[in-house]
Amino acid sequence: MDISYILNELGEDRENYFQAIAPPIMQTSNFRVEKVSELKKLFDDEYSGYLYSRGLNPTVDILRKKLAVLDGAEDCLVFNSGAAAIFAAILANLRSGDHVVSVEKPYTWAQRMFDVVLPRFGVTTTYVDGTDIGNFERAVLPNTRVIYLESPNSWDYKLQDLVAVAELARSENITTIIDNSYCTPLYQQPFALGIDLVMQTATKYIGGHSDTLGGILTGSRAMIKRIFDSEYLNIGSGIQPFNAWLLIRGLRTLPARLDRITQTTRSVIAFLKGHPLVESVLFPLDETFPQYELAKTQMRGACGLLSFIMKAQKMEEIVRFCESLRHIMMAVSWGGHESLILPRCASFGPGDFDPADPGHRMLRLYVGLEEADYLIRDLAQAFDAT
Ligand SMILES: *Cc1c(COP(=O)(O)O)cnc(C)c1O
Repeated sequence: MDISYILNELGEDRENYFQAIAPPIMQTSNFRVEKVSELKKLFDDEYSGYLYSRGLNPTVDILRKKLAVLDGAEDCLVFNSGAAAIFAAILANLRSGDHVVSVEKPYTWAQRMFDVVLPRFGVTTTYVDGTDIGNFERAVLPNTRVIYLESPNSWDYKLQDLVAVAELARSENITTIIDNSYCTPLYQQPFALGIDLVMQTATKYIGGHSDTLGGILTGSRAMIKRIFDSEYLNIGSGIQPFNAWLLIRGLRTLPARLDRITQTTRSVIAFLKGHPLVESVLFPLDETFPQYELAKTQMRGACGLLSFIMKAQKMEEIVRFCESLRHIMMAVSWGGHESLILPRCASFGPGDFDPADPGHRMLRLYVGLEEADYLIRDLAQAFDAT
């Protein structure tokens, strides 16, 4: 299906709302029925229609339809945040006593769930270096139910060979879940490669304007309905209609924003690689990246998020660089219109910094929608000030 059709028309029954171009925000908690039999049907299966907005809502449905097709999946649920989507995906596929194999250093709140929440229910997790399929093979136990992936990782961009992991999981009857936030469905389609359940935060590129949170799960109709019937309704973490509306608006410009950011990022990377204070740049589609060949086979693109290792003897030099930036802001998150910097050493206490460890000198840069030259001038003056 044409991406232009998906983003501009699919799911939008404009004759139902006065031919308005922008869909209405159905800001309602509940829906009226005329017949008791209709109520019965909805009580039996809330996925069959509109009863209460903790379940289905028409504005959210427009978004769900677009996102499912974008991902090449059968169905989709949208949550109030990416973290909620991760939680529901994991919870729906585990029972007490089960085992998870996860890539090492997954997104903070995925890791927190594996380390803090799941052990309370007897679920254990083994972390593996996902760059080698052999590590997954060795970690799988008889009670392994889920393999959790994040490819690329959003700090060091390490990839997993998705086809190989999917094959292994299929043969062992294990469900695979991936965090696909870095690529979005435009740049990586994990279903086509055999992954079962795809999560992404909509807070980043899908929203694109740093004004709403959201989280997406796409998968088979059976898997998504199962999650709807239990975790989605029970946790009550579905997205609100207004936030869904903002995400529909974000989707309209997604390809244009990603194209623009891809171009700008190329210029910024070229500048960084040529700067004497930069030791190296980490970016999955850069030819110096250790998994560049794999990245080219399973990703169609990569755009604004990269890391670089700064040359520094003291943490103060990195602090001075970050605090000298005039336009690039220091903040968590990424995927919006605004460029951002995040130094890894921000979580260090005094005395933790070891200049011999390149990981300690890592900074994550998100390239937004500004002009390349504007960003490069800002980076250059901040390097000069350190
Ligand atoms: C931000 C982020 C999440 C979590 O999404 P929220 O919408 O903030 O809950 C998950 N994975 C990755 C890679 C992220 O960057």
